[in-house]
Amino acid sequence: MNEVDVSIRGRGPVAYALALALSRQGLSVALEGEPSAPRSDDVRAYALNGAARALLQGLRVWDALAAAAVTPVQAMQVCGDAPGGAIHFDAGALQMPALAWIVDAAELDSVLRTAARFTPHLRDGPAPSRAALTVLAEGKDSRSRDELGVPFHRRDYQQAALATRLLADVPHDGRARQWFRSPDVLALLPMDRPEPGRSLALVWSLPTPRAHELQQLPEAEFERELALACGAAEGGLKLAAPRCIWPLALGRAERLCGPGWVLVGDAAHQVHPLAGQGLNLGLADVATLARVLAEREPWRGLGDAGLLHRYVRERAAATEAMAGLTDTLLHLFAASPPWIRELRNRGLTLLDHLAPLKRVLAARAYDD
Ligand SMILES: Cc1cc2nc3c(=O)[nH]c(=O)nc-3n(C[C@H](O)[C@H](O)[C@H](O)COP(=O)(O)OP(=O)(O)OC[C@H]3O[C@@H](n4cnc5c(N)ncnc54)[C@H](O)[C@@H]3O)c2cc1C
Repeated sequence: MNEVDVSIRGRGPVAYALALALSRQGLSVALEGEPSAPRSDDVRAYALNGAARALLQGLRVWDALAAAAVTPVQAMQVCGDAPGGAIHFDAGALQMPALAWIVDAAELDSVLRTAARFTPHLRDGPAPSRAALTVLAEGKDSRSRDELGVPFHRRDYQQAALATRLLADVPHDGRARQWFRSPDVLALLPMDRPEPGRSLALVWSLPTPRAHELQQLPEAEFERELALACGAAEGGLKLAAPRCIWPLALGRAERLCGPGWVLVGDAAHQVHPLAGQGLNLGLADVATLARVLAEREPWRGLGDAGLLHRYVRERAAATEAMAGLTDTLLHLFAASPPWIRELRNRGLTLLDHLAPLKRVLAARAYDD
């Protein structure tokens, strides 16, 4: 006899979102293990797409986020590493409500935890003795995945992402900017925390030793390096939070399910944050798995391998495509031969003039 229908291991946004989604279907769900400390010191901000927003709205999480913790991106500029190489997106011109939403990571964590506390059918604590299905949502270093003997193919990018919050002396006007600077990639995302209208989240991916060097620099020197890297685009930029670092890799689990278990989120796939898609992929896993379980035939158990394969088949293409896209972009902009540099910057400019293709790209990023 199963003690619960579904047991979920992990305490990240994907684990909490799945626990809420399955509880809402009336399944009994256990979040295994001791709750980890809230991520109140997480300086990251997630760029979430329309599909992720819709899922969180359905879970009554989106509307519980503080207004200052969510900033719509109305425009985006992606710059290459030569003058003129740039592409612009504008939500209004593309008739979209926003290109994405920048969400404070600590706030999302806090709201998900609160929602979990008040959800019926959801218990939080010791591992159940038996569950029909065990979901591994333990993040990229999933221990249970390793214990199951599932290889995780990881390619270290030899890069780290340095993230922090900044205050700009000019308003952001809902505009995100990204620079592909060979070899580093720098993104400034509009935020309304700590100060409405002029806060930015920085994600700067760099060769690992350089990331550590920048982390250790005195604040004024760091701000000078940052100003050099992004020109005068945002006016003066001041640090508003500690600088934190994450190692970057491309990772993929060799198998995503077996009888009675399934992988979701970063435990299944890890991508470079240059496209801001890791959590979007994880939340799409949640939406798909919840739907596949809800639509199962009455005679199928929740841990039925054939059922779980439906989820894996549905997610495979989108996940592979995103991993391939981020990896290709990274390599394209890391290559230094002058002809490749010329080609990639001309490519960006050309794309900027192809309105229909831009519309397709923006819509894909919004929905996937
Ligand atoms: C700098 C940076 C910027 C990013 N920006 C974006 C972005 O803009 N948009 C986007 O979509 N994605 C972004 N991402 C990616 C995103 O952070 C991840 O894809 C997302 O956090 C994955 O969520 P997860 O729940 O699968 O794993 P995690 O967030 O890693 O959470 C797993 C948690 O489970 C805990 N855990 C592990 N094992 C157990 C256990 N047995 N019991 C209990 N707890 C356990 C871990 O300690 C961890 O806290 C970014 C990543 C980085 C590094």
